[in-house]
Amino acid sequence: MELQYEEWCRQGVERFGTMSIKWWYRCPECGTPHSLDDWILLGLTMDDALSLLGYSCLGVLHPDVGCQFSLRQHPDKAPVKIKLPDGMEVPVFDFVEEDI
Ligand SMILES: [Zn+2]
Repeated sequence: MELQYEEWCRQGVERFGTMSIKWWYRCPECGTPHSLDDWILLGLTMDDALSLLGYSCLGVLHPDVGCQFSLRQHPDKAPVKIKLPDGMEVPVFDFVEEDI
């Protein structure tokens, strides 16, 4: 699915509220959900956490998850591609649909 940036933001706000650091994403490979807090709790800096948010499975740092999926290796498997105003496309995981 390809979404314009504004539409993607609108869906995130509708689902989780205006604070994007509270948005939840789901790994398309194993289904594990994560939010920014999960990465921070694993000891990452904010910059590192933001680079993995909605982009890599929590399993790349969390051995219990048992999944190493990342869009870095599999950009073709991105469930969503965000189209930025400058024309660039950013692959991203789907939002989590149900309540966490
Ligand atoms: Zn996964």
